[in-house]
Amino acid sequence: MEINFECKKCKGTFDCDVGKVSMNEETFRPIFEEKLICPKCGELTMDEVFLTELGQGQLTEATINL
Ligand SMILES: [Zn+2]
Repeated sequence: MEINFECKKCKGTFDCDVGKVSMNEETFRPIFEEKLICPKCGELTMDEVFLTELGQGQLTEATINL
């Protein structure tokens, strides 16, 4: 599925196809099947991106049934 992120490096927002989404039950952080790729900066870790408001909504929808 596609989730909207903001890159902390270039401050740009982008849609990234993260594949399947699951949740780490200890940290409650999402786990993505695919890598996060910023169109400008390339591969990013979860710590290098923010979820946008749109992305948070998309993530909530993706994980609500887990
Ligand atoms: Zn970037």
